[in-house]
Formats: sequence, structure tokens, C-alpha cells
Amino acid sequence: MKIRGAVLDHIGLPRPYATSAPLTIADLDLAPPGENELLVRVEAAGLCHSDLSVIDGNRVRPVPMLLGHEAAGVVERVGGETDLTVGQRVVLTFLPRCGQCAGCATDGLAPCVPGSAANGAGTLMDGDIRLSREGEPVMHHLGVSGFADHAVVDRRSVVPVDADVPPVLASLLGCAVLTGGGAVLNAGRPRPGQTVAVVGLGGVGMAAVLTALAHDDVHVVGIDPLGDKLERARALGIHDACTPEEATDRGLKAAVVIEAVGHPAALETAIGLTAPGGRTITVGLPRPDARITLSPLGFVAEGRSLIGSYLGSSVPARDIPRFVQMWRDGRLAVESLVSSTIGLDQINAAMDELADGNAVRQIIEFG
Ligand SMILES: [Zn+2]
Ligand SMILES: [Zn+2]
Repeated sequence: MKIRGAVLDHIGLPRPYATSAPLTIADLDLAPPGENELLVRVEAAGLCHSDLSVIDGNRVRPVPMLLGHEAAGVVERVGGETDLTVGQRVVLTFLPRCGQCAGCATDGLAPCVPGSAANGAGTLMDGDIRLSREGEPVMHHLGVSGFADHAVVDRRSVVPVDADVPPVLASLLGCAVLTGGGAVLNAGRPRPGQTVAVVGLGGVGMAAVLTALAHDDVHVVGIDPLGDKLERARALGIHDACTPEEATDRGLKAAVVIEAVGHPAALETAIGLTAPGGRTITVGLPRPDARITLSPLGFVAEGRSLIGSYLGSSVPARDIPRFVQMWRDGRLAVESLVSSTIGLDQINAAMDELADGNAVRQIIEFG
């Protein structure tokens, strides 16, 4: 079938992206789903820093690639035998889990081994490529490629949700909420009376804030250099919000500190704000050559830990229903992560907004 989507042909084009247009809105061919695959009509897709990292070359992926890894939609066709039926709403998740490898045996701590290999190669889980343009293959982004009106995905890349979960909300569950919220639930695990500090108040950081706020008797502090983001966090009910300099000057210390920026300076800030006995959790994806300076003595003498958390140490099939339940209970205002809704044609300018740090979550809604 013919689909319309946003294809990256060249990595590392200069800013502004509104002018250099790294993403081409193109007509593509999408082959039917194979065994254990699904054709999904995409309803909503979010723009995330990990898309930007492919555009600017910080995460090297094969091109041409149809980007987008945070999306939700409805199953239109199933390939072979699966447990899902046509009409089922699904969250597309960017780390397929086979459930059988050494990584999948770690209860979310480590990524799936074949899932990661497929993501690196730009294929679906079984190595297939269903996208092409004028006869030439186009790679899949993290098994999702959600910046298009339709996608073929592996069954292991989706989690079903009930029809009353709105599509925009469902799309956010796939990356921002799993990553930021999972960092709180799976890696941070704050106890009553503790403080959770979140460094970086973009989509992932704000998802961590909302998840921490869902806990009883946990004090939540947001840290970001941008006043607009601090204001937004205050409007969503955060207990305290300040710049990194203010946090350091005030001697702020938190039992759980989540770094959601992907920059070494932010991680150094997060480590400095971690209380004795506390955990620093890093979920941001910095440049591969990024380095930090830290004092090993501080970790030993103060009994602190530094934890890397990919996708919030999540098992999507386990954790997405937990977040849906929190939303149903009125404790997780996922929709408040949306800062604007855009059309597919506006995607290059929207990448500028994201790179400038102006956006929390920009969502593409498909008609
Ligand atoms: Zn993402
Ligand atoms: Zn696995």
C-alpha cells in the first residue's frame, strides 16, 4: 500500500531544520505484514529527542530511515497468527522484547538482545524491511517508524490498550512515560518522606515529575535552566522548581535524582544534588564521546549509587498497563505533557523547537 511519511536521507544537515529540511515528506510503499507482524493505522506520534539524535548524528542509524518511535494507533490487519485482532488500539514501543534472551531475563534492567540488534540494523524484529521508496528499501526507526499514516510493526513492538485510552495519551506512553515514569517506578522507587529531583523538564523529565507526584508523601523538585519550563512544571503541581544554579546555591539534596537531559553537565548536576544514601538515575542519551568527572570517594563515603536506566528499565507489556491504571485513577495527567499538536508537514520546524528546548511534547495527529 501507499503511505505518506517523514524520511531522513542525510544525517547532520545544519540548523535551522526549517530551512535545511532533513526530513522529506514522501510517498512510500509499505509491504503487508508478515508472520507475527501487524499493519497499524497510526493515530498520533510524538517528537522526541531520540529522533533529533538521529537527525544530528549523535545516534548513528542507517539511512534512508522513516523516523518516529513514540506512537499509537489501531490494528488494521494481522499477519499470520497473533493474539491481537483488527480494531485493537496499540501503543508502539521502541524496544521490542523477545522475552527469551539474557537481556529480557533481567526484569527490564537490560535491553532485549535481538531487539537491540534489530533496532541498530533498522529492521523489524525478524530482520525484515517492509518500507520502500521507488523500489529502494527505507529503514525502520526502532521498529516503529511512527511519522507516517501507517506502519508495519512486529507483535513484540506493541502493547494493547483499551479503546477508551485516547490516541495522543497512548502515544506518550510508548516513550516519554515509559522512560521518565519508568525511571521513577523501576529505578528510583521513592519511599514516603523522600524527595525526588528531576533535572531537565522536557517530555521525559515531565513524565518523571508526574509519576513522582502520583506518590503519596513524596516531595518533587524540578530543575531546568529555562524559566518557561519551570513555570509549566509549577502549573502542573510540582512542589518546587528552580534553575541548576539555584538548586546548588540552596544546597538542595534529594534521595532520588533523575537526569533527563542527555548532557554531561546535567548528569554532574544530578550527582551533586544526590543525598547520602541516594540514587542518581540517568535516562538521557548523551553524545557517544561525552565524559563526566566524578569523585569515587563521594559514592563510597556517602553510600550513593549511579544507575543507568534505558527506557526507564521498563518491560512495556508489564508497565504500560500500570501507567494506564494510574491515569484512570486520576493520578497521572499524561495529556498535560502535550505542548502543541502539529501536522506532518510542519515536522522540520518542529525539530527546531525541540532542539531549542522550547517544546515539551509536540504531537502529530493523523486524520
Ligand atoms: Zn523517545
Ligand atoms: Zn529479548
